[in-house]
Amino acid sequence: GKVGVLALWTGKTKTILTVEQEKLLESYADLAAVAIEGILLSEEAHRAQIVGATEKLQTALLNSISHDLHTPLVAVIGALSTLRERSMVLDDNNRRDLIDAGLKEGERLNHMLSNLLDMSRIEGGALRLSVQLAEIKDLIGVALEQVGNRHGVHPVNINIPDNLPYVMVDPGLMVQALINILDNSFKYSQPESAVDITARLLDEKVEIEIVDRGSGIPPEDLERVFDKFYRLQRPNSVAGTGLGLSIVKGIIEAHGGNVSAANQPGGGTIIRLVLPVKTLKTGNINER
Ligand code: ATP
Ligand code: MG
Repeated sequence: GKVGVLALWTGKTKTILTVEQEKLLESYADLAAVAIEGILLSEEAHRAQIVGATEKLQTALLNSISHDLHTPLVAVIGALSTLRERSMVLDDNNRRDLIDAGLKEGERLNHMLSNLLDMSRIEGGALRLSVQLAEIKDLIGVALEQVGNRHGVHPVNINIPDNLPYVMVDPGLMVQALINILDNSFKYSQPESAVDITARLLDEKVEIEIVDRGSGIPPEDLERVFDKFYRLQRPNSVAGTGLGLSIVKGIIEAHGGNVSAANQPGGGTIIRLVLPVKTLKTGNINER
């Protein structure tokens, strides 16, 4: 096929090329065409390689997600079908256990799916903030209520000064971010171990710290835990998709803030959020 057009301008002289010159020119054109074609082909091959690698990665991720989604679903179906087929022979305790197990797995499935949906919204750039003035204390209260006791009953010490200014945030998204952090603090620490939540004003920013007394995060992983699908390899690791903190990062950064992880000197993890009090990144915000 054609890779380009070669034009020859002989100036005002209007000289006609000799047969040799014409042949020479054609040879140059052929050589140039071969070189250009070579470059185009190698670019094409490179693109194909990238697409291949991305597809492979996506397939791997999809396999792992499908497995994670399948497990709780099988448990729900199992509980329901046992209830239907054997409900006559089951006593009240057994029946209740099956219902509880089914509910718990259903909730887990719901949690995973909402993580996946949040992530695809963030990645697709479809994250629109509906901001309004909100009180940090309220946001934390709503988040704590929603996490509930799904990872044991953890005492929570909240330390928030009364004069802390309100923040301009999307309350739904901010609660989601707090839920993901609290969910981790609870599930990566012993049931019944305490979690401290503090907030303070720093210049024009509000800093929120969520501190647990759990297993902590190795220093080399403190940044990577915010990557999509990144999970620490632990022997008796708890279930999860590895999306929670990447969603937190997406949400907090959309608010013009930042999030980081650190280790607590006596053991445990500190998740630190810094949010601007007034200034917000414009462009992706609809004020209510
Ligand atoms: P999910 O998508 O269900 O939240 P996840 O909890 O594995 O799954 P992230 O919340 O993104 O995913 O956390 C990533 C990893 O960081 C976790 O797998 C865990 O190994 C580590 N991690 C996060 N928070 C803590 C914490 N408070 N203490 C110890 N390790 C933590
Ligand atoms: Mg998590």
